[in-house]
Amino acid sequence: MTWIVRILISLLILVVIALLAVLLPAHIQVRSVAPRLPGNSELLALRGANSPNKVSYIVTSSQRLERGQISHISIVIEWANGKRFLIDTGMSRREAENFADLLKKMDSSAGSAMVYTTVSEALGSEIKDIAGVGFTHLHIDHTQGLENFCTARGAGALLLQSPSQQELHNFNTTEGADLVENSCLKRSDFSLAKDATLYRSKEFPGLAAFELGGHTPGSTLWAVAIAGKILLFSGDITNDKASIEQNIAKHALYSYLIVPENTQRTAELRRWLNGLDQSESFSVIVSHDLANTKSHLPEFIRK
Ligand SMILES: [Zn+2]
Repeated sequence: MTWIVRILISLLILVVIALLAVLLPAHIQVRSVAPRLPGNSELLALRGANSPNKVSYIVTSSQRLERGQISHISIVIEWANGKRFLIDTGMSRREAENFADLLKKMDSSAGSAMVYTTVSEALGSEIKDIAGVGFTHLHIDHTQGLENFCTARGAGALLLQSPSQQELHNFNTTEGADLVENSCLKRSDFSLAKDATLYRSKEFPGLAAFELGGHTPGSTLWAVAIAGKILLFSGDITNDKASIEQNIAKHALYSYLIVPENTQRTAELRRWLNGLDQSESFSVIVSHDLANTKSHLPEFIRK
């Protein structure tokens, strides 16, 4: 063996050790979040007189991928008294371009970013009506728009976060977590009743969160009661609705090396969500799937 080969092998071993040092703790951590799934009756109990009366979406940007497309969508929930809650904040225009460039490096057939708006632009003066904000998870494409949101909104909106989303972070959620922690949002009481699996807030009746795990340690399902039904916002457990319907896992390279996922949990969640989606009482809506979102919700339009 020549000395060059020896050096190359040593380098390779160092790279593998460095990768393991980063990935292994993240894999162990994401596997620590797998609470018992909520029963249908607990979800259906969200329905009540004070439930939201409107749910709409804002699509901030889209990008064509090798298979289908990825859209960055935020959800606006509204109550009769004018109160509003926002799920996910998308990205600024510049960050949406940067994010699309990053995906292009991994998917050579990906298109350029089509940037339509930002959450703060779309909400306009009505941004003041947003009384609370929550996140499906803390990846940057779901959180970075909070900077513009806070510049436009100022203080006054509450933050609803489950303990896992607040406390457990890995190498690709710390940036988003810091952004949320140091933002204009004020953390509000969000707790579990005895024997419950859903986090609830007195401020937002008909809205609840469940700690999904699977995709990130802080991945959260948002359940919203409206018109006698329950909408289930499943975040990035899958990137499209078809993957839930056909039980398709993400690429192993993605789940093991890029975003450390608990693939056993994501498989369990796909089956559970698909089962719920078969019922008239539930509709599952996937964060990055615009066609799926459009089939259930109207687009947000300023009053
Ligand atoms: Zn995402």
